Amino acid sequence: MRCGSRRPAAQIWNSSVTNVRLQAGSPATVTIYVDSGWPRAYVTGLGSGRIYMGWQAVDQGYNRTRIATHEWGHILGLPDNRTGRCSDLMSGSSAPVSCANATPSAAEASRVNSLFAGSAVPVPAKAYVWGS
Ligand SMILES: [Zn+2]
Repeated sequence: MRCGSRRPAAQIWNSSVTNVRLQAGSPATVTIYVDSGWPRAYVTGLGSGRIYMGWQAVDQGYNRTRIATHEWGHILGLPDNRTGRCSDLMSGSSAPVSCANATPSAAEASRVNSLFAGSAVPVPAKAYVWGS
């Protein structure tokens, strides 16, 4: 059964950073889709873009909350950083499949805070679903 983790990724970011708020809203600057491919994000600007929550990684056993927070990380300005460490969110699939850490490292959170510095930016998103 593919039941959803609807809000945890946004909540995790909201509790990890202070200069940006992820929230459901309209007009959305972030749209989240679900498909059968590999999870990915198309970033169109800082805090805007499209996230594809691809089932391929979930089907391979990757943690879906970690996938979602990772893809949000791209929207928030973080690049992939394939360190292989589970403690790094942006290490993505270079960390073991068993890695369930969905919380950004202190360095990752601090980078996002500095990218959004000086502006408690709301980032409205829509369609936050993993399908049903
Ligand atoms: Zn990535």
